[in-house]
Amino acid sequence: MKTVIHWFRRDLRVSDNVALNEAEKRAQNVIPVFIFEDAFHSGPDVGAARLTFLLQSVESLRKNLAELGHPLVIRRGKSEEVLPELAQTAGAQCVFANKRYEPYTQRRDERVAQTLLKMGIGFESFKDAVIWEEREILNQSGNPYTVFTPYAKAWKTRPVPHPRPRLGSAKSQSSGLNSDPLPESSVELGHPLNQTIPAGGERAARDLLRAFMAGPVLEYGARRDFPAMAGTSNLSAHLRAGTIGIRTILAELKKARERAAGKGSGCDVFLNELIWREFYLQVLHNFPHVTKGAFRPEYNALKWSDNQEHFAAWREGRTGYPIVDAAMRCLNATGTMHNRLRMIVAMFLTKDLLISWQWGERYFMKQLVDGDMAANNGGWQWSAGTGTDAAPYFRIFNPVSQGEKFDPTGGYVRRWIPELKDFPDDLIQQPWENPLRLAKSKYPPRIVLHDEQRAKCLAMFKAVKG
Ligand SMILES: Cc1cc2nc3c(=O)[nH]c(=O)nc-3n(C[C@H](O)[C@H](O)[C@H](O)COP(=O)(O)OP(=O)(O)OC[C@H]3O[C@@H](n4cnc5c(N)ncnc54)[C@H](O)[C@@H]3O)c2cc1C
Repeated sequence: MKTVIHWFRRDLRVSDNVALNEAEKRAQNVIPVFIFEDAFHSGPDVGAARLTFLLQSVESLRKNLAELGHPLVIRRGKSEEVLPELAQTAGAQCVFANKRYEPYTQRRDERVAQTLLKMGIGFESFKDAVIWEEREILNQSGNPYTVFTPYAKAWKTRPVPHPRPRLGSAKSQSSGLNSDPLPESSVELGHPLNQTIPAGGERAARDLLRAFMAGPVLEYGARRDFPAMAGTSNLSAHLRAGTIGIRTILAELKKARERAAGKGSGCDVFLNELIWREFYLQVLHNFPHVTKGAFRPEYNALKWSDNQEHFAAWREGRTGYPIVDAAMRCLNATGTMHNRLRMIVAMFLTKDLLISWQWGERYFMKQLVDGDMAANNGGWQWSAGTGTDAAPYFRIFNPVSQGEKFDPTGGYVRRWIPELKDFPDDLIQQPWENPLRLAKSKYPPRIVLHDEQRAKCLAMFKAVKG
């Protein structure tokens, strides 16, 4: 092949990029293209944090490609219209892309492929974002797994591929295709950023990976559940945007395990989390109904509350439960939230406020830098008890004991709730135990009582479980 267009989507990097590497191997001329679609800045799930992270990551990609002599062609518009036009103008024989797993992107890719085909131009997509795809790990009956543990066991029996080499310098002249300017910020698109978010781009991802593998990964098992500790990798937004390759992470993990010489149990726990990511991606692909309702359809009959005041208190971090409020305020201020806290606030919304997981799922998607349909849906359905491999509905987190266990000295709560900073450690997760002090603090009283809500929740689930 003479000329191939590499269409960047959630693979915003020049290293360890399968489709890009294949394009370089098979074509004399590779034209890198990024299409900024309207869907990136309109629609109910769009939020300034993720949009800003995307813009930063594309800008970093543009610079990295320019250094290698491959000017990035940026266009605004609909992929199914832009790509055929670009391919025709550049005389490309094929468009390469890394595969996406969400139902709507697969439909879009199918439309792109059909349009190109009619013009005699090929479209090839490659497995890149995951090690094992939706139909590669099946149970003994040939069906997708719906339980994580056997899925992870099967995942681990297979060899992991090496990272792909970084893109080399351009072999031929630049395409001469003109570019549209990338929006300078999310404000320009009607999404002012009110959060302080982590940096996007390939270098930021590599720095995080290096720092994590240099030490914290070994303690990951012991520290990952404590939000006040810097115990996790913070790579989720990068994995989502594709500013780091999964094979690169696994290769560095292997080295860390070897260096640890038998003391690398944290590495095994970390690997499990990366496998959760692939587990939920295969769930999304194999059971696309999860995007519209419960994985277990009987739970679509649950009679959720539509109390808007409770929902607003949850969103704004004023439920009166410190660990819940601290987590929500952190989300609103940074676009990030620790995994343990995601489970706590999701359980609180669904099991204490009895509000549908779908409301929470939507709010998270808008706020999170790493908002990802598969992981977010999986996490919400797990917490609500409606999903694959879900915590059974009668397992209900108590926000006080969760706070006491995972934020034992209240360091995390004090960081986000200044009203409580002078409360002693033993009261910080239940400030109502000192009503006088609580009244003076300006921190709100509890909007519901956990024990009462727990009983209502059990009754609500029993009504549909029979
Ligand atoms: C209600 C809820 C909603 C969630 N929404 C998202 C989301 O929108 N996007 C997202 O990436 N993760 C989501 N998660 C999973 C998890 O909370 C985040 O991946 C994690 O907190 C990111 O921090 P980290 O990169 O430091 O993770 P680490 O602990 O360092 O884990 C490494 C990587 O493994 C993956 N991972 C870890 N835990 C999970 C998990 N439970 N499910 C899927 N992948 C996982 C992530 O890619 C993560 O970056 C959600 C979890 C819950 C309970």
